[in-house]
Amino acid sequence: MFRILIRQKLPLEKFHEKFAVQLNDTHPAIAIAELMRLLVDEYVMPWPQAWHVTCKTFAYTNHTLLPEALERWSLAVFGRVLPRHLQIIFEINAHFLEEVRIRFLGDEARISRLSLIDESGERYVRMAHLACVGSHAINGVAALHSELLKSDVLKDFYEMWPHKFSNKTNGVTPRRWMVLSNPRLSDLITEHIGDGWIKDLSQLKRLEPLAEDAGFRSRWREIKQHNKRQFAAVTLTRTGIVADPDSLFDVLVKRIHEYKRQHLKVLHIVSLYHAIKSNPSLAVQPRTFIFGGKAAPGYHLAKLMIKLITAVGEVVNRDPDVRGRLKVVFLPNFNVTNGQRVYPAADLSEQISTAGKEASGTGNMKFSMNGALTIGTLDGANIEIREEVGAENFFLFGLSAAEVYDYKARGYRPMDYYNANQGLRDVIDLIRSGFFSRGDTELFRPLIDGLMHEDPYLLFADFQSYIECQAKVDAAYRDTERWTRMAILNTARSGKFSSDRTIREYCKDIWHIEPVPINLLTHAEAGSA
Ligand SMILES: *Cc1c(COP(=O)(O)O)cnc(C)c1O
Repeated sequence: MFRILIRQKLPLEKFHEKFAVQLNDTHPAIAIAELMRLLVDEYVMPWPQAWHVTCKTFAYTNHTLLPEALERWSLAVFGRVLPRHLQIIFEINAHFLEEVRIRFLGDEARISRLSLIDESGERYVRMAHLACVGSHAINGVAALHSELLKSDVLKDFYEMWPHKFSNKTNGVTPRRWMVLSNPRLSDLITEHIGDGWIKDLSQLKRLEPLAEDAGFRSRWREIKQHNKRQFAAVTLTRTGIVADPDSLFDVLVKRIHEYKRQHLKVLHIVSLYHAIKSNPSLAVQPRTFIFGGKAAPGYHLAKLMIKLITAVGEVVNRDPDVRGRLKVVFLPNFNVTNGQRVYPAADLSEQISTAGKEASGTGNMKFSMNGALTIGTLDGANIEIREEVGAENFFLFGLSAAEVYDYKARGYRPMDYYNANQGLRDVIDLIRSGFFSRGDTELFRPLIDGLMHEDPYLLFADFQSYIECQAKVDAAYRDTERWTRMAILNTARSGKFSSDRTIREYCKDIWHIEPVPINLLTHAEAGSA
């Protein structure tokens, strides 16, 4: 980059006018210290000028609201591996804390909260703080997330520099997540509104009137049915489990994590299973529950959640009493390739994280674009999806982020919910009894005891609301025409969630760049040139 500037005979003081660096989370935040090192050590630029250039160059996108996920690097290791960078970070910190001291006279608590160095125990570099201090722009990836950064996670930085903060709601590319992965639906759309939507997703709006066209709805259903059959074939090869394409495909695919609450989905399945066992003639909407996702290597509870899913699956899939009604599939090795097969085959998109924990989510967008209906909490981009598709085309349940905060502040007691709710008690007791673990009452204890005594992600508080909302899903699905209308409107109103829109916002508000018109030669012109 320096070589380019030098060749163009531009001074390094103009570096930030020619280059922008977007820190995609804190992992590359060390680049702030590295640019300072290059400017100050290699190009002998005075510190204040180098700092000006650096801050104007960098911008930071935060991706998590979980405080335990904020990156910290041990000072001891840092000093051994990158001693000069650590010196530079100390120098940045000294200048920064001086500024804090002048702004907030004598507020020592604030100074230690804001410091780039965590000195509460063993000393660490707080990489998110380095990213905030060294960037001219800071953003979250959904409206709620950006608000929570300002009011909670990065509150002190917001009070220091409110002008740095903005929101950039995530998006996904319709080229991969519709055209490539769902060619039949894409062709149907193009047949009716032309292919302009592929580069301008807002044009999907033109599908809205077609929701009232019975012929269009019928073709829409045929395509969904085709996608479900194709996916069932994949499932059969991978797992040996037969999934009925006429059942409701209820899909929860994403990284396995307590805050994403895959175990809440399991509580729903066990609750249906228990209801059928208690009353074998019970009429229930047949469903295939499809899970996919990886757990981080050392995250034992996440591994145990996978075990719980497959253990419940083994019992449910074998039980003749529920045959033709409930099936549970855990699709191994969930990745983008498998994602491309599963999102287009979904009827129901499960977005059930504890409100205030999911930064944005992007799976939620892929589902909605492909005509799956969402059951979800008011979390991350779910809120914006619901605003776009309309509350009547979205299945909402659970506490809001503000209510979650209140519950925790007042002292949440999951046991009270267990004691008060027979349905919840039946489910928890069945798992605890070893019914899904061949009589082993110890296997799922860490998970179940955790819920009974702590339940940090409020599964018990949201359980009843989730179960009742799922009953509404059943009723809506039974009305095939109504369901198809809702599905079409989901796709028609998903234009906002194109990454083209997101990138345009970064261009305009953060990078200050404009599109460069390029004259693409046609084939004929290229030939005669
Ligand atoms: C889209 C996608 C995700 C993100 O899913 P969320 O539901 O937003 O957590 C994760 N993994 C893969 C393979 C994906 O395609």
